[in-house]
Amino acid sequence: MNVTKAELVISAVKPEQYPDGGRPEVALAGRSNVGKSSFINKMINRKNLARTSSKPGKTQTLNFYLINDSFYFVDVPGYGFARVSKQERQKWGKMMETYFTTRQTLQAALLLVDLRHPPTKDDVMMYEFLKHYDIPVVVIATKADKVPRGKQAKHAKIARETLNIADGDPLILFSAETGQGKEEAWAAIMPFLAG
Ligand code: GDP
Repeated sequence: MNVTKAELVISAVKPEQYPDGGRPEVALAGRSNVGKSSFINKMINRKNLARTSSKPGKTQTLNFYLINDSFYFVDVPGYGFARVSKQERQKWGKMMETYFTTRQTLQAALLLVDLRHPPTKDDVMMYEFLKHYDIPVVVIATKADKVPRGKQAKHAKIARETLNIADGDPLILFSAETGQGKEEAWAAIMPFLAG
């Protein structure tokens, strides 16, 4: 994918704020700090369009990034950050559920998990939630550069088993540092962007 243009169109809280136009969307979900912003930036060759932050759980909006004027990456706020209040968590849950269950232009979700550790309970819940609503899921295992090459396959197997990923569904090892998995990720996303 040759990304020539990428812009943050809106940070939305309510469905009325979601962009019109019917362009296809791929949503990104994952635990806070898993590397969602870094993934987006790497995929679109930008240093800092999506904000990478050391303060996980800060963004509570759905960020719609329009790519090449033709499709959106939708950054869903991260989950699993302990220091967020119950009220904030409920707000997050409602916003997320509304988006995933009603958005007609949503084509697929990327679920980001940290390759270094087995997926968390929240990761498993998120995966099951997406599958329950029949949303195609591509699992991206981030920070692969932090796992020695020789151990990556074993970590990937644990991730597949913990999430109970169906045979044939993709799990892509990714590193925003080295670019590992970038082309593979695009190849997995492309079929969903045809509209
Ligand atoms: P987000 O909260 O999911 O958007 O996560 P960020 O993209 O802000 O990343 C959280 C932290 O992990 C930052 O310090 C990043 O530099 C780091 N990080 C993200 N992706 C990678 C990666 O592939 N490799 C390494 N080594 N660090 C990463």
